[in-house]
Amino acid sequence: MKLTFAGVSAGYTEIPAVRDASVTLADGSFVALVGPNGSGKSTLLKTVYRALKPSAGRVLLGSEDLWRLPRREVARTVGVLGQEAPGGHDFTVRESVALGRYPHHGTFARLTAADEEIVRDCLDRCGCLDLAARALSTLSGGERQRVLLARALAQQPKLLILDEPTNHLDPEHQISALELAASLGVTVLAALHSLDLAAQYADTVLVLRSGRIHRAGPPREVFEPALLREVFTVDGSVVDDPVTGAPRVLLRPLAVEGP
Ligand code: ADP
Ligand code: MG
Repeated sequence: MKLTFAGVSAGYTEIPAVRDASVTLADGSFVALVGPNGSGKSTLLKTVYRALKPSAGRVLLGSEDLWRLPRREVARTVGVLGQEAPGGHDFTVRESVALGRYPHHGTFARLTAADEEIVRDCLDRCGCLDLAARALSTLSGGERQRVLLARALAQQPKLLILDEPTNHLDPEHQISALELAASLGVTVLAALHSLDLAAQYADTVLVLRSGRIHRAGPPREVFEPALLREVFTVDGSVVDDPVTGAPRVLLRPLAVEGP
């Protein structure tokens, strides 16, 4: 599903936290949203999963204004792993992931055998099968994060919104979560702090700076030393992974002299 931000501003006070964002995400692309703390990443994502209405501009899902579509249609199309802790901590892991199926049915409809199979498959793919009967409230941060990813996958979305999906995850699960997201073939918009993971997985990187889209493009072009210094206040460079050939980002403290 194609996603377009057309002059989107959004925020919490009269001063917008995101200003005049305009960019189109091609269908099936993996787009990483990067930027320092407070640069507006979560704010921009909230305008897509309808947690925060833009004060100006439009968000288009395909060619439709997302904020004018029925809520349920958006829930069926857009899968979300958000940053704030969702309620429902009395749910078991299985129940929590099953919630991802409800936009396709209606809240109190019984899940079909096919739904149950999707839930099982998503638990499995996120490494959560062993956790299925546990209460969500008893999980570690990383386990919980994997359950939330499984729920977003259970929605079978056409657009996947991930706000720091690798938060709390160990190295194995950081990689498997992004591999999984990339393998779905749907459009992914993921806020990531690791520029190295962004470089490895994203076709396109959007750099937010003080609420504005500062730069957009492929990782090898975007993560140039001047940008890393200016936006992230670190020295760094892109190198080729000797094994996979993917771009990798190496960071160093500012002003450490190289050879
Ligand atoms: P990021 O996700 O890039 O770290 P956010 O989008 O969360 O940044 O925040 C952008 C700006 O909006 C920051 O200055 C932040 O303090 C402010 N902000 C975020 N959430 C709220 C809120 N609920 N109420 C008021 N200000 C907020
Ligand atoms: Mg954030």
